Amino acid sequence: MPKWETYDDFMYEHLVLAQQICDRAIVKSDPKKVAMKATMLWEFVKDFAPRSYQTLVFDCCYIVGNATGNKVSVPFLQNISADLLDGRRVKAMARTEKGHWYLSEEGKEAIMKIFGNDEVLYNDAVNQWTTDEYQQGEKTDHWCEMCAVRMESGETRKDILVEADELPIRPILICPGCRKWEWDVDTEN
Ligand SMILES: [Zn+2]
Repeated sequence: MPKWETYDDFMYEHLVLAQQICDRAIVKSDPKKVAMKATMLWEFVKDFAPRSYQTLVFDCCYIVGNATGNKVSVPFLQNISADLLDGRRVKAMARTEKGHWYLSEEGKEAIMKIFGNDEVLYNDAVNQWTTDEYQQGEKTDHWCEMCAVRMESGETRKDILVEADELPIRPILICPGCRKWEWDVDTEN
């Protein structure tokens, strides 16, 4: 059973979500206009981007927000999602098994259509994921919520909570801004 009775209901629900996100995240432009553009982008990409429809709305708000002079961050969108979706923390722009949809040829084409074919705007919106540091895996998809920057990997710390004569050394993710860190659970085995 589809959750939506008609295609219009389906579209409307996601447009409302985009508006709620933009009302909170967009301060330098008209949030309604940004939400309209974000929904337009969402409609272009929803059939091929390997994301849930809801999560994809956050991606689209991130992309259009950052291409319209609004400094929207992934951690800020996570907080907004927790607020709007009963505590669910959606990580916008995250990599999936199929990579980043917005870096694919189809994704780029759809975004460029929204951006009037301005490649500089496109690059601004996705540049956090195209840097050499990110491609080489030194920077991760984990974010410091306080600093709104990506955590870095490559360092280790001793785990003092383990009771052993020799404390185990484990990989960490560290924020280049505030230097606070957390265990890197992804690379543990
Ligand atoms: Zn930080």
